[in-house]
Amino acid sequence: ERIVSGEADIQDLSLEQSLRPQTLKQYIGQDKVKQNLAIFIEAAKLRQETLDHVLLYGPPGLGKTTLAAVIANEMGVNLRTTSGPAIERPGDLAAILTALEPGDVLFIDEIHRLPRSIEEVLYPAMEDFCLDIVIGKGPSARSVRLDLPPFTLVGATTRAGALSAPLRDRFGVLSRLEYYTEQQLTDIVVRTAEIFDTEIDGHGAGEIARRSRGTPRIANRLLKRVRDYAQVRGDGSITYSLSDEALQLLQVDRLGLDHIDHKLLRGIIERFKGGPVGLDTIAASIGEESHTIEDVYEPYLLQIGFIQRTPRGRIVSDLAYRHFNLQAPAK
Ligand code: ADP
Repeated sequence: ERIVSGEADIQDLSLEQSLRPQTLKQYIGQDKVKQNLAIFIEAAKLRQETLDHVLLYGPPGLGKTTLAAVIANEMGVNLRTTSGPAIERPGDLAAILTALEPGDVLFIDEIHRLPRSIEEVLYPAMEDFCLDIVIGKGPSARSVRLDLPPFTLVGATTRAGALSAPLRDRFGVLSRLEYYTEQQLTDIVVRTAEIFDTEIDGHGAGEIARRSRGTPRIANRLLKRVRDYAQVRGDGSITYSLSDEALQLLQVDRLGLDHIDHKLLRGIIERFKGGPVGLDTIAASIGEESHTIEDVYEPYLLQIGFIQRTPRGRIVSDLAYRHFNLQAPAK
């Protein structure tokens, strides 16, 4: 497991329940998304209607699940949680939908992984709050319409592009979550440290934030490890130098890059003179799958401008050369 991965691991899951903000006010960052949602939520409440269906998209660990729970909480309704891969048959979805109470929020994580046959059950449910169920088989089969309680579907996906157009069109609100700024992550680290009852100063929190790749989940995970280090090697409180030592030991560099990022960047620099080089060629040369590079390793490197995509392939930027104290080849 990469310590700088945005995906949840088993240890995160037990930790995260206690760290989740409950209200829009406690939810740090994502100001545009929050401002819009605050208005939609208030309007829905004034009209005593359910909130429109909401699609949240963006990289893992940015707070989609958290925001779904915040929405339910702000609406004053229950949250039911499931995920695309967990729903295998239409009956699974029907069971979930018929058990909802009026106004509930149904959260479907990884909604792009819903099988197509199930998506089709979802369309009338989202549009008209009803289910079309086929009873019987062969010539005597007939379709029965079942009313559902009105509900709000909150879907989350890391890949909005992988969603089918008819499904995407049925969401009234589409919100893209962005990577967090250093200041926002610092605020998140300080908040989490308070919950942990751990002493931390601004520079200590800032250094953890800087290495968290714009991602709250990573910030909280790094904080947890730095706290362990502080307990064993220090007096339990977290300062800049202690954060720096601990994170060096964890091999997370000043920008939050780890050995995998280094392998990828140095691979392109050393074997392909910094590019341009095709994705498949890079993948073969470092022994990774192309889609893993594209979906998992590359997004953050693109985000910080270390890699650029061009029609002729990937290029490592001057910025990345400087990060390694290397001279970029003359152009
Ligand atoms: P996603 O569903 O996008 O993968 P999560 O909602 O599970 O991400 O968020 C991961 C963790 O990061 C949460 O447990 C929460 O503690 C923290 N987190 C996410 N967004 C925020 C935020 N805006 N403010 C504070 N903490 C956050």
